[in-house]
Amino acid sequence: MSTLLIKNIGSLVTSPDSEIKKGKKQGELLFLEDAYILCEEEKIKEIGHGDLPQADEVIDAQGCLVTPGLVDPHTHLVFGGWRQNEMAMKLSGAGYLDILKAGGGILSTVKATREASKEELYFKAKEALDEMLELGTTTCEAKSGYGLDLKEEVKQLEVIRELNEKHEMDLVATFLGAHAYPEEYKSDHEAYVEQVCDMIPYIAEHGLAQFCDVFCETGVFNVEETRKILLKGQEYGLRSKIHADEIDAIGGSVLAGELHAISAEHLIVCNAEGIRALSQGNVIACLLPATSLYLSADFAKARQMIENDVAIALGSDYNPGSCPCLNLQLVMTLACQKYRMRPEEVLNAVTINAANAIGRAEQVGSLETGKQADIVLWNAKDLNYICYRMGSNLVKQVIKKGKTVA
Ligand SMILES: [Zn+2]
Repeated sequence: MSTLLIKNIGSLVTSPDSEIKKGKKQGELLFLEDAYILCEEEKIKEIGHGDLPQADEVIDAQGCLVTPGLVDPHTHLVFGGWRQNEMAMKLSGAGYLDILKAGGGILSTVKATREASKEELYFKAKEALDEMLELGTTTCEAKSGYGLDLKEEVKQLEVIRELNEKHEMDLVATFLGAHAYPEEYKSDHEAYVEQVCDMIPYIAEHGLAQFCDVFCETGVFNVEETRKILLKGQEYGLRSKIHADEIDAIGGSVLAGELHAISAEHLIVCNAEGIRALSQGNVIACLLPATSLYLSADFAKARQMIENDVAIALGSDYNPGSCPCLNLQLVMTLACQKYRMRPEEVLNAVTINAANAIGRAEQVGSLETGKQADIVLWNAKDLNYICYRMGSNLVKQVIKKGKTVA
């Protein structure tokens, strides 16, 4: 069995265990100085300091900071086309409807995704994953939701599965057939909700997704429709996620609590009732500050959530419309500046809480004996520095399953 020793770690910072961190524990971390990590094959065999064990390969961390690999719990990774023209249109005063009329908006991504071959989608998403690894992300969630019929949703989910098999990144798939109403169903929403429910058995039985997500929002899927789809998912073993309270608080977060969703996403306008429901339902709040920045929208009330015992995870929301950004380091800085989260709280939000939000906390999200050796060495001495140096990539080296990948 091959072994790898990372020695001379100035500061090793990690969640001490795999539990969800909420309330006062949101910022609970273990700090070890002058530490080493011994990996055996894909796993962490030992963490310690003092006398160094023998190993086949040795990496000298030269006194730097070491953390778990980052986990991105919310991406729309697989899509066709880009929408850079919309940015220019918005800047010259075009409204939402003007953009739709010009063939833009989410349905233009649906069209481009349907037109793209599996290979095209695969290589485009692969490039994004390469970039994410370089930025320290070693596990990510990826949603479908630009196909909007069985064949096309399956095409996206199969690309995610193939990437999970072939790429160094670990991917976790979420079925988001209820992302928008496709053109064909724009005047018959009820029939599309039925369609989505009918897609679930095939997707679950073929192991194409682990979670079912719905965009619960004014003009998209209402609470009743969301409940129907998510319950059907649960019947087939897909745990629930909800895009909730992004623009209007129509009850998505309350439903997330009621259905014990594993996570609720966005939550920009989540009110006290919604926060209470998340807390009672033990739902992880998956906040996406880069999207708020990109849309010039408000920022979720993270401090109020932490005070009310709601665990926070942070994601990129990488997608071609509202957030063409996959950099979790930028997300970490935004969380400090805009959510007033402390760096310790932020690190748990992009590691162990994010891993819990996608059901992977047993494997990744913290540095512990027996867990996967997903490790980032930083060009930094401490955690504050990563959050402080907005916009730079401070990754020095990325170890995935015991091997250097970036
Ligand atoms: Zn999203």
